[in-house]
Amino acid sequence: MRILLFGPPGVGKGTQAQLLTEKYDMVRLSSGDLLREEVSLSSPIGKKVEQFLRKGHLVPDDIIYELVDSFLLENKESDILFDGFPRNLNQARSLEKSLAQLGQTIDIAFEMYLDEEDLIKRLTDRRYCPKCGRIYNSTTNPPKTEGICDVDRVKLSRREDDNPDVIKRRLTIYKDETRPLVNYYKSLNIYRRIDAKGNQEEVLGRISEAVNGHIDNKCRSN
Ligand SMILES: [Zn+2]
Repeated sequence: MRILLFGPPGVGKGTQAQLLTEKYDMVRLSSGDLLREEVSLSSPIGKKVEQFLRKGHLVPDDIIYELVDSFLLENKESDILFDGFPRNLNQARSLEKSLAQLGQTIDIAFEMYLDEEDLIKRLTDRRYCPKCGRIYNSTTNPPKTEGICDVDRVKLSRREDDNPDVIKRRLTIYKDETRPLVNYYKSLNIYRRIDAKGNQEEVLGRISEAVNGHIDNKCRSN
């Protein structure tokens, strides 16, 4: 099973990706993680990646494809959750081709959806623990004591890029680059829109319902 998750910043995609990989025992492909891993291994490709990042440039797609392809090959027997990759049409087409070479396809492409107003509210309400990295949100995932990490009692902080100007810019980039995936995956008949309102368990319930339905159908047709 290969499942893809995309959605705007603030929609709760990272949290759901984490919950889904645990629930369905999937491996998670995040292009950001792949790049960071290569850099930390100081592999030949990692050294190239580091140069782009140091100059503040985007890492070229062909480097990302190379990493994704070797990940797909290594994990071809596993169920995969694609988290934040592909983020544009070119990447989506490339992924389709790479999977086809392994005789595979994507089962479901989920778009997590939330009104822009709610997204902005969630992002400005977001806090993280500088010690353990846990993410909290005063509406969807509040800490037990306001402003304090549940685990280590450290005072929570706000990410610098969670301010209204940067948020608006990130949402525009999402609309321009990633939202075209909606029509692409509709045309492949694998698109599912998920309402991302509510807390993380409610959203996980909606996604799981679709995943379970898909698994049932697969069993019946086999
Ligand atoms: Zn903490």
